Amino acid sequence: MNTPADEKKGLDVIAAIQRAGVVGCGGAGFPTHAKLKGEIHHLILNGAECEPLLRTDRYLMIHHAAQIVSAATAVKQAVGAQKCTIALKGSYQEETAALERAIREQDAPVSIHKMRSFYPAGDEQVIVAEVTQQVIPPAGIPLDVGCVVSNVGTMYNVSLALEGKPVTHKYLTVSGMVKKPTVVCVPLGTSFAQCLELAGGIPEGDWIAIAGGPMMGRRLTRELALESPVIKTTSGILILPPDSLLARKEQITLLHMYQRARSACIQCRRCTDLCPRHLLGHPLEPHRIMRQMATLALEGNAVDSRILKSAALCCECGICETFACPMQLQPRRVNAMLKQELAKEKVRWNKGEGQREPSPWREGRKAPTKRVAARVGVLEYYDRCGTSGLEEGTPAQVTLPLQQHIGAPPVAVVKEGERVSAGQLIAAAPEGALSANLHASIEGVIVSVGNAIVIRKEG
Ligand code: SF4
Ligand code: SF4
Repeated sequence: MNTPADEKKGLDVIAAIQRAGVVGCGGAGFPTHAKLKGEIHHLILNGAECEPLLRTDRYLMIHHAAQIVSAATAVKQAVGAQKCTIALKGSYQEETAALERAIREQDAPVSIHKMRSFYPAGDEQVIVAEVTQQVIPPAGIPLDVGCVVSNVGTMYNVSLALEGKPVTHKYLTVSGMVKKPTVVCVPLGTSFAQCLELAGGIPEGDWIAIAGGPMMGRRLTRELALESPVIKTTSGILILPPDSLLARKEQITLLHMYQRARSACIQCRRCTDLCPRHLLGHPLEPHRIMRQMATLALEGNAVDSRILKSAALCCECGICETFACPMQLQPRRVNAMLKQELAKEKVRWNKGEGQREPSPWREGRKAPTKRVAARVGVLEYYDRCGTSGLEEGTPAQVTLPLQQHIGAPPVAVVKEGERVSAGQLIAAAPEGALSANLHASIEGVIVSVGNAIVIRKEG
C-alpha cells in the first residue's frame, strides 16, 4: 500500500510527464499523464514493434534500455501497479539481452514477456491478452482489466521528462526504396525531406510515401510527403514505388471498392477467421459486414444495423484485406468508412456487448510478420534497415503543428519575432483539457504562429 510520501512522489512523476508534453509515440498520441490514472495493476510496455519495416522501438530498446527500465520502475511506483512487464518478440535477442542487463543492474521490478513474431502483436488489445491472458471487453480499454499499455518509445521520453527534459526530438525509421534505410533522430518539426536526406537523399523519379508502417500508415503523395513535418507520433517514413501494391490499393475509389465488394465477395469468411479482434472473442465479423453492404445496395435499408455497428470494434490492422482475403477486397477500408459514419452519428458499441470466449484456433491463426510483409509487397525492404546505426540532423527551420495528439491542441504562448531556446514552452495545454504541452525543438526566432509554430535558427 502506498504511503502519503509515495503518493506525493507519484504525483510528482505524473506532473513531470505532463509538463514535458509526453504523448503516446505511435497511434493517436494519447497524452501519457492522462493515461496513468485509475486502478492500474499492471503496467505493460509495448516493445512488439509489429509493423513490418519499422525499427525505431527496437533501436531504443537496444541503445536506451537503461532509461526505459528506470522510467518503467518510476511509473510503476507512481501509479501503484503490482506488476510491470516489457512485452517484445522472442526473436528480438539483442533487445532482450539489453533490457535483461538493465533490469539486473538496476534490480528493477520489471519482467520480460516474449511473444511470437506475428502481426499485430503490438495492438493494445492483443498485447494485453498475450501478457495477462485476460481479454479487454469489446469497445473497452486496457484499464478495464487493470492494465495500462505504454510504448517503449514513450517510456524513453518519460525517462527524459524525469530529468526535466521536455519532448523535443523524435526517433523514427526511414525505410523502403531509400539509399540508406536507417533510424534517425531529429528535432520535432523537421521536414520529411530532411529525414530522407539523412537516409541517403530524396529518391529520384516518382514514388509514394507512407507515414508510419505499411499496414496502418497514412499514404502521402510525393509533394505532400516532402513538406510534412515530423510530429510526436511519427514512427516512420516509408518510400515505395508508385506501382507498389499499397499504392495501387489506395488508388481504388470508394465506389469501385463497393462495387467489387458486392460482386466479388465469395463469403469464404477468411477475413473473419483471421481477424485478431474476432479471435479474441469480440463480435466483429468482417465477412458479415461485407454481406450487409451488398444487401444495403440491393434492398435499401434492409440491413441489420448491429452488424454494421460492429465495425466500431475494428482496429484497422488490415489483416483482413492484405493477408486474408483471396479476392483482394478491402473489409478494413469498408470498416474505416463505417467507423467515420458511426462517429458522426455518435453511435457507440456498448462496452462488453456480445463478448464471447476467445477462439480456440487463435494461436494457429496468428499472421507471421514476415509473411505479412510479403503479402503487402514490402519483403524486399524487410532486412534492409538495421538496428545499430543512427543518423541525426538539425534543420535550419522547424514547423511544429499544434495538433500533434488526440484531444485539444495546446495554445500558443509565444509571438512572432520572439527568440526561443530549445526546450522552451511554446504552446500550453489548456487547463483541465485532454492535451499536451509543446516545446521549441530548436533554438531560434518564431517566424509565424498559426495552426503551427515555425521556428528558424538565427545566423
Ligand atoms: S475474405 Fe474476402 S472474399 Fe472472403 S468473405 Fe472476406 S471479404 Fe469476402
Ligand atoms: S482491419 Fe480487418 S482484421 Fe483488422 S480488426 Fe478490422 S476487421 Fe479485423
